[in-house]
Amino acid sequence: MEKILNYINGKLVEPVSKTYIDNYNPSTGKVYSLIPDSDEKDVELAYQAAHAAFPEWSITPKDKRSQYLLKIASLIEQKLDKLALAESIDNGKPLKLAKSVDIPRAASNFHFYGTGILHYASHSHSMENSAINYTLRQPVGVAGCISPWNLPLYLFSWKIAPALAAGCTVVAKPSEVTPMTAYLLSEICIEAGLPVGVLNIVHGLGGKVGNAIVSHKNIPLISFTGGTTTGAHIASVAAPMFKKLSLELGGKNPNIIFADCDYEKMLSTTMLSSFANQGQICLCGSRIYVEKSIYEKFKNDFVAKTKQLIVGNPLDDNTRIGAVVSKPHKEKILSYIDLAKQEGGTVLCGGHEVKLEGDLKDGYYLAPTIIEGLSHTCRTNQEEIFGPVVTITPFETEEQALEMANSTKYGLASVVWTENLTRAHRVANNIHAGIVWINCWLLRDLRTPFGGVKQSGVGREGGFEALDFFTEPKNVCVKLK
Ligand code: NDP
Repeated sequence: MEKILNYINGKLVEPVSKTYIDNYNPSTGKVYSLIPDSDEKDVELAYQAAHAAFPEWSITPKDKRSQYLLKIASLIEQKLDKLALAESIDNGKPLKLAKSVDIPRAASNFHFYGTGILHYASHSHSMENSAINYTLRQPVGVAGCISPWNLPLYLFSWKIAPALAAGCTVVAKPSEVTPMTAYLLSEICIEAGLPVGVLNIVHGLGGKVGNAIVSHKNIPLISFTGGTTTGAHIASVAAPMFKKLSLELGGKNPNIIFADCDYEKMLSTTMLSSFANQGQICLCGSRIYVEKSIYEKFKNDFVAKTKQLIVGNPLDDNTRIGAVVSKPHKEKILSYIDLAKQEGGTVLCGGHEVKLEGDLKDGYYLAPTIIEGLSHTCRTNQEEIFGPVVTITPFETEEQALEMANSTKYGLASVVWTENLTRAHRVANNIHAGIVWINCWLLRDLRTPFGGVKQSGVGREGGFEALDFFTEPKNVCVKLK
């Protein structure tokens, strides 16, 4: 059985403990590879390698650092098929999605920051004739990067690329649930000739490896994407150590549909914003609020289209809904469907497991699920489910829609459908979220600030904001007379 290895000091190495954890293929429910069960000893080795590489890497000219990143981007593009297949097998997502979204975006992340760093500049503040201030932006040091399982290589590279571009060296941990493409990335880094120790990838459990990175006394910066509860724990460990923190956390995003929207465009995009990647995207719109006058029509059309979605083998071209990522996650989603029923919800479609045949009979498949009849304050509408489950709720006025949209502890993303220009801007202005998509969803310009408000996170990724995060500003004041 294939063994994944850690990537430390430029080499692929076994964990110090020599022990491994099972890695499951969600589409079959079978173990198909082994993951290093690393611990703080491996993190220490990774830190030492990153620490030793930092002085050289941090002063490597930015066009040279850029070349390494662009080489990695181009190798990801060349290996698109292999990486997409690995992502699909590891995560359960449709291969088609991995090929069209996950892997191209991972290449774009390296490409974007490989070029972005060439345009990154700092400020100067002149005090007329008496003095001039200029700000140096210096890489912080060894960065700790921790990412989740839903968009494995996409989100892993979204942290690593700006960190490396900025001149930091990195100790990174992908989710133990989906480690395979991070492992393949380490092979790519070796092929690209990335200097040893610049990037180190340690595989293993969050509570062990993640915790050892977060609590490491010499890692001054943590970039984390994952659940809000884990984020709160990380903040409680890192804050007293005065670490720089970027937290991209959970979401429970509203999708607000006004009667004057472009209906067909709205309906086809809402299918994606509800169920893409089995609903396991932090940006999915899982609370759908629909203006009352079109509620019944929307409900009938949405349910009919959802019933047509093919739940199946992630490797088949026709599959729209693959497997959810793990057995515990499948059970969590099913428990929320039960909760929704207890809370008085009506399941309009789905609401159950899907049993496939042959090798796939033990895979983790769920039918896409639409629920109505719930109050916006109930737990189903307040807590993140992170699966192919959405609720639909009618509203009568814009104020009511906004009140419901803003009623959760989260504030990551939101979607608004209307052809009324003034209303679109007004709703965007009043919504509590870091991202508002008007008449679209998941349209991403990598220069824009990315992140959430309230319990969806602290700080922003994307564009120069990420380079700001991985560098420390130092003001130098020079007296002129
Ligand atoms: P988790 O919070 O469980 O895990 C995220 C990462 O943290 C994993 O690598 C995990 O390791 C690690 N981890 C777990 N415990 C600790 C710990 N004590 N110390 C340090 N690291 C730890 O999230 P999921 O992987 O379940 O991802 C789903 C969540 O991520 C959802 O809430 C989703 O909304 C959110 N998310 C947010 C995004 C955003 O941009 N705001 C984007 C994508 C997802 P391991 O998996 O090995 O246990």
